[in-house]
Amino acid sequence: MTAVSPTTDPQPIISLQNVRKVYRTGGREVVAVSDVTLTINEGDLVSIVGPSGCGKTTVLKILAGLHDIDGGTVSIGQGQEQFVAGRDVGMVFQQPLLLKWRRIIDNVMLPAQILGMPAKASRERARDLLAMVGIADSADKYPYELSGGMQQRAAIARALVHDPKLVLMDEPFGALDAITREKMNLEMLRIWEQSRKTFVLVTHGIQEAIFLGSHCAVLTAGPARMADHFKVDIPYPRNLDVKTSEAFGGYVRRVYGQLNME
Ligand code: ADP
Ligand code: MG
Repeated sequence: MTAVSPTTDPQPIISLQNVRKVYRTGGREVVAVSDVTLTINEGDLVSIVGPSGCGKTTVLKILAGLHDIDGGTVSIGQGQEQFVAGRDVGMVFQQPLLLKWRRIIDNVMLPAQILGMPAKASRERARDLLAMVGIADSADKYPYELSGGMQQRAAIARALVHDPKLVLMDEPFGALDAITREKMNLEMLRIWEQSRKTFVLVTHGIQEAIFLGSHCAVLTAGPARMADHFKVDIPYPRNLDVKTSEAFGGYVRRVYGQLNME
C-alpha cells in the first residue's frame, strides 16, 4: 500500500497579473508600474526589491487595495472572500508615524479602536504584541521617550493589533542605523514566524531582501517591470551566519545581475 501524504498546497492570497499604474497629475502622466505579475501565497514573506523611484511603494499600495490600476488584474483575498483595506491589511512605513500625544499602548491600539473592536480585548492584545516585539516596558511611555528602533517596533505591533491577514511594510528599517537595522531584521524574522501571517516587505536593500524573504521579487528601474521572482531556498530559522553562506551569495549575485550591477 502506498502512503498518501497530505497535500498542503500553498493558497494564493494576492495575485497581480500584468498590472500597470499611471499617475496623472497636473496634466502630466507618470507610468509608475508598467508590467508586474506576482502571486503571493498565504504565510509567505515576500521581499520586493528595486532601485529608488522604481515603483515599489506603488506596488505595495496596489496590494493594499488603495489604488485603482490602469491595466491588468488584481485579485486580493481568498476565493470569494475579498480583503477590506483597513480590516485585513496592516501597514508599516519608513517612519513610525506614531501620534506623539498618545502613549505607546494607545498608539498600538489605534487600528483596533478605529475598527470598533472591543476595547478590553484589544488592550490585552496590544500588550501581548508589545511583549512580542520586545518593548513591553514601554507601553505607558510617549513616543519621544523611545529610540527610532523601539518606535518602529511599536509601529509593527500596531500593524498587527487588528489581526490582519496581510502585513505590508514599506522600507520599514530605512530610517534606522545599520546596526539597529540588522537587529530589526532578526526581530522581524522572529515576529513573522510567531505571527504566522503573510508579510510583504519592500526594500532597496538587496541583502535584506534575501536574508528575510521566503520569496524575492526584483523590480527594474522605473517604470517597474518584474525582472525576476524566485523562492529563497534557505531554511528558517535564519541567523546572521546565513549571510556568509554560498547560497546567500548566489541569490545576491542573481539580483545584482538582474539590476545590471555586475
Ligand atoms: P519607490 O517606492 O520605488 O521609490 P514610487 O512607487 O514611490 O517608487 O514611485 C514610482 C514613480 O511614480 C516615481 O517616478 C514617482 O515620482 C511617481 N509617483 C509616485 N507617487 C506619485 C503621485 N502620487 N503622483 C505622481 N507621481 C507619483
Ligand atoms: Mg517608496
